[in-house]
Amino acid sequence: MSGRPLLNRRLDGLGTTIFAEMSALATATGAINLGQGFPDTDGPESVREAAVRALREGHGNQYPPGPGIPELRAAISDHQRRFYDLSFDPDTDVLVTAGATEAIAATMLALLEPGDEVIAFEPFYDSYAACIAMAGAKRVPLTLRAPSFRPDLDELRAKITPRTRLLLLNTPHNPTGMVLTAEEQSAIAALAVEHDLLVVTDEVYEHLVYEGTHRPIAALPGMRERTVSISSAGKTFSFTGWKVGWVMADGPLVSAVRTAKQYLTYVSAGPFQYAIAEALRLPDAYFDSFRADLRRKRDLLGDGLLAAGFEVYQPQGTYFITTDITPFGEKDTYAFCRALPERCGVVAIPNSVFYDDPDAGRSQVRFTFCKRDDVLNEAASRLRHLAS
Ligand SMILES: *Cc1c(COP(=O)(O)O)cnc(C)c1O
Repeated sequence: MSGRPLLNRRLDGLGTTIFAEMSALATATGAINLGQGFPDTDGPESVREAAVRALREGHGNQYPPGPGIPELRAAISDHQRRFYDLSFDPDTDVLVTAGATEAIAATMLALLEPGDEVIAFEPFYDSYAACIAMAGAKRVPLTLRAPSFRPDLDELRAKITPRTRLLLLNTPHNPTGMVLTAEEQSAIAALAVEHDLLVVTDEVYEHLVYEGTHRPIAALPGMRERTVSISSAGKTFSFTGWKVGWVMADGPLVSAVRTAKQYLTYVSAGPFQYAIAEALRLPDAYFDSFRADLRRKRDLLGDGLLAAGFEVYQPQGTYFITTDITPFGEKDTYAFCRALPERCGVVAIPNSVFYDDPDAGRSQVRFTFCKRDDVLNEAASRLRHLAS
């Protein structure tokens, strides 16, 4: 072999995701894992049964259609009409993907040329940086700053250059829990129209909003033809292992994304697509009680973190709470999170890894609250040792 590094330059520095590292630490130490955001109880029994039925009856056990099964595309289209009064033609405007993760990857690979600039909120969801890099494009962070984590729209305007191709939005935002307001969305949409930018919006937490409301930016004037909306069943139905996601946009955009998706996975998760088609048609009571339950868990963990001495930034959505460790006289969140399992048997994620600006997130730590009440109570009581 030549002395050339095996990992190509585009992926240099992306290493192992922090979630793999911290989940391994949780397993090795037996600590409570409030790091990675996956629920510790599965979604609705009826939806699980629908998957079993599909498997038994031979639905989706062989390659399903490339764009996704018609039943699921129709259910996605109906869901957008039911919740947001948005209309997407299930035959041309919807594409089923292997989770939102593949939707993001395929969208970036399809829409970006090498050298294009992508403006995205920092702290980033970690796959954004990787997908932008794999497409050979350049990420330009718009830093969300504590305590409110609201985007500075003047700063956004200033970051737009002739090379800017795309705005990558995420609302509700992981990890900060920020939910864009109608005014912010309008201002962002106006900039996108003025500068003729594409907008990609990751809405996987659309049903987990506790303050304010979720409105897809695709609904705003001038946005429909330039917006790719992405969502997923993982967070909404507590089946993160099924990896059923989707892309919604005008036909030409979906067709571009489908071109990339075809050669990434071709298709995915046949029987689960049938089950998620049923899940999307669950009555409002499901969505309402899921949200109410998670709101209660947010408050449960938030109170515990306050009692333990953290500065707590109340999230408006998602299932994460961002905290600050400055009250403990500590600054380096990475060191803090590595030591936390030994100190008190809890795993959390250092937000610093989601920032390009090394100072912006230096003292922030993220906890997830999508866990059983007894787990959250036990974690809160363990964390109280930090206060003494
Ligand atoms: C979990 C998550 C995803 C990935 O969704 P999958 O459907 O599991 O691939 C994408 N974006 C954000 C912001 C997430 O939190």
